[in-house]
This record gives sequence, structure tokens and C-alpha cells, in this order.
Amino acid sequence: MELHRLTILQAHEGLIKKEFSACELTKVFLNKIATRDKEICSFITVTEDLALSQAKRVDEKIQAGNDIPVLAGIPLAVKDAIMVEGIAATCASQILKNYIASYTATCILKLELQGAVILGKTNMDEFGMGSSTENSAFFSTKNPLDKTRVPGGSSGGSAAATKADLCSYALGADTGGSIRLPASFCGVVGLRPTYGAVSRYGLIAFASSLDQIGPLAKTAEDAEIVFDAIAGKDDKDATSLEMSRTQQESFSIADITIGVPKEYFAKGIDPEVEGLVRSAIQKFEQEGAHIEEVSLPHTQYALAAYYLIVDSEASANLARYDGIKYGLSSGDTDLLGVYLQSREEGFGDEVKRRIMLGTYALSAGYYDAYYVQAQKVRTLLREDFEKVFQKVDVLFTPTSPVPAFKLKERIEDPLAMYLADVFTVAVSLAGLPVVSVPVGAVGKLPVGMQIIGKPFAEHQILALAHRLETV
Ligand code: GLN
Repeated sequence: MELHRLTILQAHEGLIKKEFSACELTKVFLNKIATRDKEICSFITVTEDLALSQAKRVDEKIQAGNDIPVLAGIPLAVKDAIMVEGIAATCASQILKNYIASYTATCILKLELQGAVILGKTNMDEFGMGSSTENSAFFSTKNPLDKTRVPGGSSGGSAAATKADLCSYALGADTGGSIRLPASFCGVVGLRPTYGAVSRYGLIAFASSLDQIGPLAKTAEDAEIVFDAIAGKDDKDATSLEMSRTQQESFSIADITIGVPKEYFAKGIDPEVEGLVRSAIQKFEQEGAHIEEVSLPHTQYALAAYYLIVDSEASANLARYDGIKYGLSSGDTDLLGVYLQSREEGFGDEVKRRIMLGTYALSAGYYDAYYVQAQKVRTLLREDFEKVFQKVDVLFTPTSPVPAFKLKERIEDPLAMYLADVFTVAVSLAGLPVVSVPVGAVGKLPVGMQIIGKPFAEHQILALAHRLETV
């Protein structure tokens, strides 16, 4: 049996039937990481001792004849923006290179309560800023399906590790597409939950009104198991909410109306990507779903509004890295000197670019023209979705106009990199749940489709993603 290929449910079955132990399962992944990850470079930190001690505790429970939760003994990888007490949390930045997390994120606590096994922390674009994982201060992660290409970003390490079977599943974080784009480029399932569905406590902040933690998994069913484990209101995150139960009811495909927004099939999209997404839509039509072309008229302004808002929030959030409170401290002249030199040495080019743009957009005299204007566009985008969701249940769109691009292809051109998010940012601004699910490949390069739902419709969009995997 190839243990590294098992889904969460299959691995759970194997553990309770004592076909293998949690320690054996964990060692399979640790060995794979030690060999295969030399080429893929998806992990920044491997937590071998922690993983083995967590696995041992699960084995003791099984040996004692106790029932175990479904995630007990199942090894996962964690994006390096999510904190695990006592383990380095670098956010792939020089400024946090030596930072050891002083507390554990709520989503991790919830998984640990189930007996999850943490294999390590994965590579990402520095502070989540990027679409290819090339903005990591340490190294670039390679796409496991074609090592000359990017895995997508910013949760590229988590997606690549999941695809390469270096973990059973992984956690990522999505501000403007960082779970969905790498899921699409690597051919795994990636869920961005409704804003507030999963606590952000312990997630290193990038843009607080947009950041959401979610799973990257081999199947929609796995993603659902992980989502159910980490969702829920948390007193430590005032923006977190409890799921409303009514959205979890079952449904029949014949009762579903799927909206296809025309703005997501415009000029510039790779014809083969469009073809794969359209044939996935057709499958649902054959199953009895009603398909309706719809319009989200403000889509063309989403990218500009997103980059103004995200940079503004980032410039405020990243003010805390002053060379005193966390990580790197440089310069020995005076206090201002320490601030300046630590930030100069500690932040990469993209992070500096965003701090400058965000500070500019928030400054007196420009605030109304840029930040306030972008917030108005955000409202219009949200209203676009609200209107179409009066007519349709879900929306299907490509996740990205193109499959994984080449390493170094866009890194010198920030605008080309920003354009990778053209189909993902509007959903983030509207705070809606969305899953990227594989719908085929162009050559060996996977293509993902977004299934966007109404607030808290995670179970519905994951059920549709599951349907796609099985038809
Ligand atoms: N690529 C987008 C950005 O750079 C999204 C990043 C993210 O979701 N963390 O802002």
C-alpha cells in the first residue's frame, strides 16, 4: 500500500483497523520530505520531533482501544504564516527568520485537539505577497508536475507538498487568491472559506479584512473534513462567526442554478483553459443543473481596488516590524537607526513596494482619491455578487486565465504577477466562500475551476466539487 497517497478517510480507516500505525504513516512522509523535497523545496522547517511525538500519542490511544477523531494521526503541512508555539514562523521573510512563535493559532489548536500530526512549515511568498512563491526570501518552490514552472502563490509550498504527497493535506491562507491559485497550478483542491468562518488568530497578518485560512487537499471530501475541523467562532478573533446550519442541508443537482459570469471568459484567457472549464460546466448541465450566463459588471475594477486595499492594510500591519519587537534587529546608532536598518535589511523588494504604495494611498491628500475610492469599488463588487446570487446558487469560473507559468517569467514585472490574480481577487473582496477544483490539464499542467458560493455555503460548493471528481 502506498501510504503517502491515501486520502484522509482512507488513512483514518487504515489507522483504526491497525493496518499501519500513526508513527509509520508519519515516517513515510518524513522520508519522502527528506528525499523528494530536495527538488521541490516546499518546506522551510521540518518538525520531525514534534510530528513523531504527536503520532506516538495517537498510537497510544489506538492501542488503548480508544476511538480517535478522523484527523488523528494524519500528517499535515502548515503555511509558514500560521503560528505553532515553539516553532519558527518566518512568513518567508528575513525580518522573521529568527522568530519563534510564542503562541499557537486557533486553527492549529483545533487540529491538535483531534490529534493531528504537524510535519512542518511550508514556503510562501514573503508575507503572502505574490502569486508564484518566488518572493520567498529563502528559495523558490518548484511545481511538482513540471519543475521549470512555479507552483503558484502565495501558499505554493502547501500546494506543492500536497501534490507531491509530502503530506496528507496542508493549511494555506488566502488574501487575494493564495490558496486557489496554487491549488489550480498544482492540481489540488483549495478552499477559501467565507470571511470569518475560520479564526485568523495566530495567522501573521497581511491584509486583515481579506486574510482567511483554508485547506489544500487531495480531494473535496478531504478539504471538507479539514474545514469542519477548523471552522467556528473564536473569542480571540472578533471577526469570526459561527456557521449557520441552514446552509448545510443536502440538495439535488437538478435544483441547482449555476451562473457563468461572462467577464471571466473574456479576451486573454487561454483557449484550452476555457475549454476545460466549459466542459466541466457541461457535465453539470447533463446532470440536470440549470446553467445561466450572468454578468458581474464591476469585475474589471477588482484588481485595481484589491491592490490599493491590500497594500494599504499591509502598510499598517507591517508597521509592527521595527527591529525591536520581533525577529531581526539591525543597526546600533539610535532608535530610528534600528527601525530603518532592520526594515531595510529585513524586507524584500515586493514587501517594500507594497508598504510604499499603501502608505501613499493612505496619506492625507490621496486617501480620498485612492483608498476611499477603492472601498467604494469594493461595495459595488459585493453588490454585483449579491444581485446574481438572487438568481443563481453558485458561480463557476476559471481560477486562472493560464496554467502554471515558468519560474522567473514574471518575477521582474510586478504588474504581470498581479495579473495572475485577475479571477481570484473579486471573490476575496466580497468575502465569499470559493473552492478551486481541478478540471483537467493542458499537457501536464493542471487547470482549476472556481466554484463560488453564497456566504457560508462551504458544504454546498464542496459537494459540487466532489461531484465533479466523481462524474
Ligand atoms: N497574489 C495576491 C497578492 O499578492 C494574493 C496573495 C494572497 O492571497 N496572500 O496580494
